[in-house]
Amino acid sequence: MMQWESVIGLEVHAQLNTHSKIFAATATEYGAAANAQACDFSIALPGTLPVMNRQAARLAVKFGLAINAEINRHSLFARKHYFYPDLPKGYQISQYEHPIVGKGSVEITAEQGVKVIRIARAHLEEDAGKSRHEDFQGMTGIDLNRAGTPLLEIVSEPDLRSAAEAVAYLKQVHALLRYLEISDGNMQEGSFRCDVNVSVRPAGQQQLGVRAELKNVNSFRFIEKAIDFEIARQISVLEDGGSLRQETRLYDAEQNQTRPMRSKEEDHDYRYFPDPDLPPLQLDECLIAEVRAQLPELPTPRKQRFQRELGLSAHDAEQLISEREMADYFEAVKARTQADAKTVANWILGELSGALNKHGLCIAQSPVNSAQLALLLERIADRTISGNLAKQVFHSLWHSQPSARDVDAIIAAKGLTQITDRAEIETMIERVVRAHAEQVAQYRQGKSKVFGFLVGQVMQASAGKANPQQVNQILQQKLGEPEASG
Ligand code: ADP
Ligand code: MG
Repeated sequence: MMQWESVIGLEVHAQLNTHSKIFAATATEYGAAANAQACDFSIALPGTLPVMNRQAARLAVKFGLAINAEINRHSLFARKHYFYPDLPKGYQISQYEHPIVGKGSVEITAEQGVKVIRIARAHLEEDAGKSRHEDFQGMTGIDLNRAGTPLLEIVSEPDLRSAAEAVAYLKQVHALLRYLEISDGNMQEGSFRCDVNVSVRPAGQQQLGVRAELKNVNSFRFIEKAIDFEIARQISVLEDGGSLRQETRLYDAEQNQTRPMRSKEEDHDYRYFPDPDLPPLQLDECLIAEVRAQLPELPTPRKQRFQRELGLSAHDAEQLISEREMADYFEAVKARTQADAKTVANWILGELSGALNKHGLCIAQSPVNSAQLALLLERIADRTISGNLAKQVFHSLWHSQPSARDVDAIIAAKGLTQITDRAEIETMIERVVRAHAEQVAQYRQGKSKVFGFLVGQVMQASAGKANPQQVNQILQQKLGEPEASG
């Protein structure tokens, strides 16, 4: 049996979150009525001219600096020609031979540990419009709102070796774009799209195999499935003695398969040439220094800091930094309570994330803010309430009106204050011991498992409010050691 190696390279199209289009002062907000943002330039009225949006260049530089890439002080816009109804100019303005961002790299955590994925380039381009088939029987509607929206196309080298690595890379780039506040990365709205290039080759072979480019894969889960399907398909064609051709294939999520769409166009089909209407894009050192000064702490260093300084596990740190807002929330809670980092992380990744998922909210929309959660954890730390009852308080907070989200008031109103008074706990224990003479006898004869049962009875008698450590300790003293373990 031949051993195969799969090879994957990704082209990410990220929508830059500028206020206006890349070559026109027209809004780019999502969800406007069809063609409300189709300005003169977007519909290619003769005589209209492009004017470069400097903010788009700034955002591209920001990305380039974050991936330690070459920033090209001098880059060019080129026309990429093709005919399609949603492209009235007959060409897309893109960058070809001279992109704004050159070679860089992104680190991912793959199955075998940390792996560096090389970035070949990242260039600026305009988006096309959108054809709409669903609302027009027998006809096609064209919406040019999206035409001219600024995109950053981020092209990886073919360094990825499995679907899992490809997804890890995409998540890393996605997190980076959001950290940098370059793009909202919203996949449903098309702000983060990806073309997936897949090939296979006999293990050990240097030369790359013939690739297929997969389109229409718009979630991390589907990307993983589409790649796995495509790898298996290519291997089976080759093992049956067939050959592959370079082509563009469409992924069909319902059937979980890819289908040929067209043979892949070659670069020369696009008749690229420099756009005569746009001067070269020049970046001065000042602008680059300014953007560099605005770079936030990036996900990977932040993750390392959480592990090194706060003692979090790689897994917890990874989860927390996957979204900048979540990492910020974590740090805000941590700063306000003496609870240890692990406890704070557990609450955020457990109770809070669970409730957010259940209600379909992102952390920025959380009804329980970081100050409130910090106070709740503080009340566990100072032994006002037990960790278990704190969960009840958390859910009360969650469902309260904003003005009523007061941790101490809820604890008082629900009578959840922990019982730490020794005499009171002793009384409860005596009552339980008397009521369960049989179990106590069993314990004393060596059946040590009964101890847990008795603790449970005391906790129940206190409606969960007795301090569990004290119950354990006092009960132990009352019963003495069992005779033999059993
Ligand atoms: P194009 O612009 O025609 O799509 P590029 O050379 O720019 O082609 O490559 C696009 C993407 O395809 C890059 O991410 C690159 O890593 C990837 N790629 C190129 N060749 C292969 C291959 N044989 N197998 C897998 N990926 C590939
Ligand atoms: Mg390409």
